[in-house]
Amino acid sequence: MDSELLDLVVKMDECVGKEDWRKGLDSLFSTLRKKFVFDNLAIYSLAAAGGVPEAVYARAIGRGRSKEAEASWGEEIANQVASTGKVVVFSPSGKASVDRIDMPYLLGLPLNLSDGNGALVFVRFGGPEYATDQIPLAALAVAQAARTIEHRSLRENLAQLELARYRAQFQDDFIATISHELHTPIGFIKGYTTSLLRSDTIWDPATQREFLTIIDEESDHLVSLVDRILDSARLQSGNMPMEYQPVRLDSLLRDVVMRTRNRVKAIDVDLELESATPIEADTVRLTQVFDNLFENAMKYAPGTKITISLKVLPDKQVVTFSDRGPGIPSEHLPFLFERFYRVPGHSGKRGAGLGLFICKQIILAHRGQISVKTAPGKGTAFVIELPAHSS
Ligand code: ADP
Repeated sequence: MDSELLDLVVKMDECVGKEDWRKGLDSLFSTLRKKFVFDNLAIYSLAAAGGVPEAVYARAIGRGRSKEAEASWGEEIANQVASTGKVVVFSPSGKASVDRIDMPYLLGLPLNLSDGNGALVFVRFGGPEYATDQIPLAALAVAQAARTIEHRSLRENLAQLELARYRAQFQDDFIATISHELHTPIGFIKGYTTSLLRSDTIWDPATQREFLTIIDEESDHLVSLVDRILDSARLQSGNMPMEYQPVRLDSLLRDVVMRTRNRVKAIDVDLELESATPIEADTVRLTQVFDNLFENAMKYAPGTKITISLKVLPDKQVVTFSDRGPGIPSEHLPFLFERFYRVPGHSGKRGAGLGLFICKQIILAHRGQISVKTAPGKGTAFVIELPAHSS
C-alpha cells in the first residue's frame, strides 16, 4: 500500500467513534473523496422499514456542496445489494445525455449492521465508470461507516438504558421518600393522640400541652408536605397561576428574615441589600422561594452564618442566599433541582426533595434563573436572577 493510501486509511479510521456519528461520517467520506471521486452517497437501512430501504444518511459532497442530499436515486440499487449481498455496479447505457444528471453511474455495496442489512450507494453523475481496483477502497470506507453507525446504536442504547434506570430509580425514590415523609408525622400524631386517650393514665396539664404542641406541629408539617406535593404537580403541568404586581425585593427579603427571626431566635444572618426598584413578581410565590432557601440554609448548614444579598443591576436583580455549611458534592448538582431529588447523607433531616424543584419552577415562571455555587466544606450559595423589566 502506498503511503498516501495508508494515510487515508488511518484518517478514515479516526472518524469512527466520534461523539456525533453524522460528523464522523462526514469526515470519513470527505477523507475518502481525496482518492475516490463521487458526487452523492446515501446509506440505506433495510432493517427498520421491513425491506423498503430507508435512508439513514445522505450527503452531496462533490463539487463544493456538503448538504443533506435527497436519496431516492439509490433505492433501487440498495435493494439489489440487499437481495444479493454483493457489490452492484451500474453504468447508464445509450446515448450520452447533455445533462450529466441523467447519466448516473452507481456503485452499491453491502453494509452489515448488527440489527440488519444495509447498503451504501455512491453516484457519479456523468461518470467516469468505477474501476475495479477502486472498489476495495470504497468497501473499506463502507466497513468504517458500518462501525460508525454501530457506535451510534450503542450510544443510543446506552442512553436509553440510563434513562430507564433513572426512571426506575426515580419511582423507587419517590415512593420511599413520600411514604417516609407521610408516615413520620402521622406516626407522631397517632402516637401522642393514643397516649392522651389512654384511660389508665392521667397526664398532668404540662405534659398534655407538650403532646398537643407536637400534634399541632406535626399536623402543620403534614399540611405543608401535601401543599408542596400539590404545588409541584401544578408547576410541573404549568397550572400554577401567578399574580404579578410591583414588588420591592429588598422589603420582601427583610420581611422573610424578620418572620424567621421571630420564630427561630438563634440564627446568624447578614443582610446585604441594595435599595431596589420594584419589579413585576408574585409576592406569595417569591416569598415561598426565599423561605425555602432560608430554611434549607438553616437545615443543612446549621449554626453557620447565612448571608442574604441583593444586587440591583440595570437589567436584573440578583438575590443570593449563602451559607458556610458542608456544601454539596458536585456529582449531585445536575439533579439538585429535580423533583424528589435529595442528596444522600443528611440522615435525620426531614424533606421530600421538592423545595428546590418548586423554587426553580417559580423563578422560571418569572423569566428568571436560579443556580447553585458550592464548595465541599466551605458552603453553598443559591443565586437567583430576576429580570428588572416585565417585557
Ligand atoms: P429537601 O430539603 O426537602 O430535601 P430540597 O429540594 O429543598 O429538598 O433540597 C434538595 C437537596 O439539596 C436536599 O436534600 C439537600 O441535600 C440539598 N441542599 C439544599 N440546600 C442545601 C444547602 N444550603 N446546603 C447543603 N445542601 C443543601
